[in-house]
Amino acid sequence: MERTELNILGEFGLIERIASQSQVHNSTTIKGIGDDAAVVVADQGYQLLSTELLIEGIHFDLSYVPLKHLGYKVVVVGISDVLAMNGIPKQITVSIGLSNRFSVEAVDELYSGIFAACEDYGIELVGGDTTSSRSGLILSVSAIGTVEKEKIAYRKGAKLNDIICVTGDLGAAYLGLQILEREKQVFLDAPEAQPLLAGHEYVLQRQLKPEARLDIIKQLSDLNIAPTSMIDVSDGLASELRHLAAESGLGVRIFEEQIPIHQKTYLAATELKLGPFTAALNGGEDYELLFTIRQEDYQKIMDHTTDISFIGFMSADPSEAFLITKQNEAIPLTAQGWEKSEDA
Ligand code: ADP
Ligand code: MG
Repeated sequence: MERTELNILGEFGLIERIASQSQVHNSTTIKGIGDDAAVVVADQGYQLLSTELLIEGIHFDLSYVPLKHLGYKVVVVGISDVLAMNGIPKQITVSIGLSNRFSVEAVDELYSGIFAACEDYGIELVGGDTTSSRSGLILSVSAIGTVEKEKIAYRKGAKLNDIICVTGDLGAAYLGLQILEREKQVFLDAPEAQPLLAGHEYVLQRQLKPEARLDIIKQLSDLNIAPTSMIDVSDGLASELRHLAAESGLGVRIFEEQIPIHQKTYLAATELKLGPFTAALNGGEDYELLFTIRQEDYQKIMDHTTDISFIGFMSADPSEAFLITKQNEAIPLTAQGWEKSEDA
């Protein structure tokens, strides 16, 4: 494949190249890339701003993550926090630290993923910073979004008996990562071996190309329902539940049989001899939304939304966080998942 060195373009050339691919997706961007700062229309309500930093070797491994997927994921990670406030993301900035290991073509790949995600979510890349790095690829994403004042969802807003909801399914991204790690090890031991990825497309996709749940925020908005509290599931269900509980000053009770786990996740877990519930409670990178609703909103959500599971409720005692098993045992949830080891 063709390889163009970054120094042929130079920093300004590179920025120009990125800017020329940027497209306008929404009307609140007045000025994107190219001046000292981006200019956006300040909507009614609150502006939301969040930042994430991703470092090669810590957050991603380029030996098995395609750059295009990485670009897509960076955007998803960035806007997921805006969604978790019940907001609509509008713009992002992405800053990159590049070593000379990267070619212009590699940067193009990365940005093709970034722009694909911008298009999918109706947002724009309005700026960033570009610098060289001596220690691999560094990516930082900031997202701007808006939310109506009365609809903002903090972590702290859950009330007694509110129903705990989670979108999509959990644990798949973690198992996808374990499959990739397994195959990397196989490759390091015997480079001629064929990777055994077949049958695991679902969990691999969940790891490599997660989606942010803008669709859910829109569904809730259409129903005129505001979650009482919300957080995105980036670290695993157990630790996110503990955040909601602690911030809201309440306890949580969730039911094992209500936790949404995809059939392909069970399959991968069996093959890897890992517990599917451990993956769901403790895995992370699912980028689903965990939120609470008032009891009176339950029926409406039940009848008019898809892909939302009701997994439990907020309880009075702030010191309790329980998983009720299928055998009706109450097991304390720890930040590490749960305290009893499970059968895989
Ligand atoms: P400054 O010296 O003011 O930081 P830069 O040359 O770094 O100027 O940036 C010029 C413009 O290019 C700004 O609008 C900035 O947001 C944008 N920009 C720089 N790097 C990137 C990048 N990696 N992606 C998107 N926009 C970028
Ligand atoms: Mg700069």
